Amino acid sequence: MTNHKKIGILGGMSPESTAEYYQFITRRYTERFGDYGYPEIIIYSVSFQPYVDWPGAERWDLVAQGLGEAAQRLEAAGADFIIIATNTMHLVFNEVQTSVKTPMLSLLDVVGDAILEKGLKTVGLLGTKFTMEKPLYHNALAKKGITVLVPNANDREYVNQVIYDELVAGNIRDESRAGYVEIINKLTQQGAEGVILGCTEIPLLVSESDAGLPLFNTTLIHAEAALDYALG
Ligand code: GLU
Repeated sequence: MTNHKKIGILGGMSPESTAEYYQFITRRYTERFGDYGYPEIIIYSVSFQPYVDWPGAERWDLVAQGLGEAAQRLEAAGADFIIIATNTMHLVFNEVQTSVKTPMLSLLDVVGDAILEKGLKTVGLLGTKFTMEKPLYHNALAKKGITVLVPNANDREYVNQVIYDELVAGNIRDESRAGYVEIINKLTQQGAEGVILGCTEIPLLVSESDAGLPLFNTTLIHAEAALDYALG
């Protein structure tokens, strides 16, 4: 037992990135404090297939209902706060939040703050087609005075395909890394001062050393914010 808040992770979207959250939070605590007194963590890992199928059919009502029920299970298990460990599913953040009393910590808020801290005004965005094409980041970051650029339609299709065909299965390929770096370079030419890795699996593929400009690793930014929140 610790005095920290218990972290509820709504995960499994995909398991590859949920494991990153878990590993980062526990290791980072030890790095910062030198012992193993990390916060307690409850992970509710959904079966991923419906969360691929429902968005594909634009059934966000079913996504919201399913994640709302999962959040209630985290609440019943004693989570003091909940994080949704995926960018895409922040499309239903408000609906999920209304299904529980437990507070939720939004990835979009903490990523926006990280961009402001670096003083950037224009950033590129890579993610699933839902994240790139719906006004998710655009709206959240416009409030902070940040402009979001997305790749062209072909490149969006490619980025999306690599996520669902490779990264969520833990398949990390050099060719895909090269493809992503090329798209990052195009965004830079369009004026991006940094790029949001706006899908929690993308950091498994590309890192700042591949790119040559600031990259915002949404998985680690969100996980670190959850650690800070848990520590109070
Ligand atoms: N983990 C991904 C994200 O951050 C995509 C998987 C999903 O939730 O559809 O958006």
